[in-house]
Formats: sequence, C-alpha cells, structure tokens
Amino acid sequence: MNSRLYLDHNATSPMRPAVRAAMQAALAGPHNASSVHAEGRAARQILDAARARVAGVIGASAPGVIFTASATEAINLGLRGMVDGPAKIRRLMISAIEHDAVRVTAEDIAARRDVALDIIPVTAQGQIDVDWLCHRLNAHVAGTDGNLLVAVMAANNETGVIQPIEAIAPAIFRSRSYLFVDAVQAFGKMPLDLGSLGADLAAISGHKVGGPVGAAALIVKPGLAIAPVVTGGGQELFRRAGTENLPAIVGLAALCAELGVAEFAALSGLRDAIEASLPAVARVWGQGAPRLANTLSFSVPGFSSETQVMALDLAGISVSAGAACSSGKVRRSSVLSAMGASADEATSNVRISLGWDTPMTAPATFARVYTAEIARWQKRHAA
Ligand code: PLP
Repeated sequence: MNSRLYLDHNATSPMRPAVRAAMQAALAGPHNASSVHAEGRAARQILDAARARVAGVIGASAPGVIFTASATEAINLGLRGMVDGPAKIRRLMISAIEHDAVRVTAEDIAARRDVALDIIPVTAQGQIDVDWLCHRLNAHVAGTDGNLLVAVMAANNETGVIQPIEAIAPAIFRSRSYLFVDAVQAFGKMPLDLGSLGADLAAISGHKVGGPVGAAALIVKPGLAIAPVVTGGGQELFRRAGTENLPAIVGLAALCAELGVAEFAALSGLRDAIEASLPAVARVWGQGAPRLANTLSFSVPGFSSETQVMALDLAGISVSAGAACSSGKVRRSSVLSAMGASADEATSNVRISLGWDTPMTAPATFARVYTAEIARWQKRHAA
C-alpha cells in the first residue's frame, strides 16, 4: 500500500506514530474512570489530564469538554441537548453547507418537534451570507419568536472554505441567541479559540488530523446546561452516559501535542501546486475565499465524480468525490449546489485533501496521473 498516494485526509487521516504509541501504552487497562479503587482513580487521573489538554488546545474550559465516540454523536448531543435542555431552543438556523451530521439532525428535530428550521444561504464563493443572517437576527425577538440556535461550521469539508464566524458571533449574541460551531474540519488545521470566539457549543474530532477514530468531543461554554441524549450513567457530568473510551481519549490528547497550525498552513504550497496542474476545463471551488490549506475541490463538467475517483484509485491515488456520502455512494453535492453549481458541475466534482504525511512529491505524482486520465477521457469523449 506504500506506493499509493493518500489524498483524502478530510475523510480521515492515518494515525500519527505518537498517537499510536500513546494509545498502545493505554490499551491494557483496566480503565473505568468511575471506579473508586486504585485502578479507577488512576484512570480518572488520565481522563482528567486528557480533558485539560484538549480544552487547552482550543481555548475551552476543561469541564466544558464532553467526550463522545464521534463528531456526529457530539453534534447530535449539542443540537438535541439544546432543544431538550433549559435553553429550550425552538428555532434552528443552519447554513446551507453544513455536514449531514448537522443538516440531517436539524431536519429530524424539526420534523419531530415544535422547532422551526431556517437555512442560511451561501455566496458563490461558499461563505455564508452574513447580511442575510444579520438581517434575520436583527428581526428576531428571543422568547417571543422562540429561542434560537445558529449552527455554522468553521470550515467546510468539501471546499475547505473558512466561514466568517467572528463576523456573525456578535450579532448572534446581541439577539440573545446561541452559537453552535461544527469545528471538525477546523480542529488542528487553523487557529481555533472557542473562548475568545464565545461559541456556546462546538464539536471537534481528531481523526481528520492523525488522531484516532472513536474519540471526539462536544464543547460547551461554562454554565451552559444541556440535556443528555444517552442516559443511564453519571459519566461526563451526566451529559453522556457510558464508560469512557480511555485509550482513544488518550490518543486524542496525544494528538493535541502534535498539532501545529503553522506546519499545517505550509500544505497550501502543495495544494496550490496541484491546483496549478489542473486542466483549463476544471473549475475550482472557493478559490476567492479563505480556504483550509489542505483542501482543493474542483469539477470537470461531463467527467463524473465517480469515474474520476475510480480512475485515480486504479492509478494508486485516493481522493473522494466532494459529494460522497457516508454510505460510500456518490450523489449530487448539496454544498456545490448551494454555491450555484449546475447539476453537471455538482456531479463531476473531486475533493483532494492533504495531511501530515503527504509527500513533497504529491503534486508531481498527481499531475502525471491526472493529466493522463483527462487525456483518456477527452479521447473517449471525442470518439
Ligand atoms: N462535521 C464535518 C464538517 C465533517 O467533515 C465530518 C466528517 O466528515 C463530521 C462532522 C462527522 O464526523 P464523524 O463522521 O467523524 O462523526
């Protein structure tokens, strides 16, 4: 497998050696952090240290860190916990480009509960329409109109476009509404200080930057109470029942010591080189907006996502269709559609995402393979 070129870090990233070493050391246990005996107390110490380290790296308070098994679970807990908790959320406003974990969960809540759902439009560059949102927030009367939770991701998983969270946060708080940030793609890839941002809730996960699958977290602001989704135990201050997955949490904490935002920013050199090698027919998404250094999304109308991904796979390069869903199927990208892409563009999209182990030779390898694939496709097309 070593000769392959893996360019799908936004889906998941290979585990970093230091993370693996920390997890291996923690695997044997016993480690039930709720037990009162010596082994339990030792596990509690490890858990507390991990919580403090995760909190420290994102400017959060340690008691606000609720460990979960995935970001999807953290997002469910955040959204459902705010509807069922003391905040009594009765209106959700989410951006048109949210990940399914947010969008489908918000739709499910709206379908089952007395909760309204609004969609915040995005510009052609893939950033939320700040004027639209501020206008709505100015007109919103908390209490009368139902308490409002606004969910906007920090950076988009398909295009890498960074969202103007700092610009919208003051208007959200002025309207006495709550801010939820899906920071899954931002974590470890760009500066993230939840404390200074003032976000009420945020979801993070480590496996997009070399951490383990199986440990993620919902971060809540000090003093903000949410209702649990999983009940039956006092773990995580009664907000997420179930014995904590200590080895994975140790891995997430070890990851925090490895993250370097400056080092990650340097990936933009490789990304830009790949972008420069694309054929003239390719349309790059979010090119005029601030983007994560590692992400490139483009479409070649007429050359379907599925065919491109399969051709690159056969040639030893792993990428994804921007619109690949969790079932592995490729569908029309709702993110690109929201940005104004045509049906053809939204089904001929490829996402390249680099990461900590991407070799310097990646642009040359990609250019060689992709140029040949494009030539083959054009020949087929002309025939
Ligand atoms: N949010 C964003 C922006 C994501 O990119 C992902 C995963 O791709 C998730 C949430 C869900 O993460 P997980 O599948 O690890 O639960």
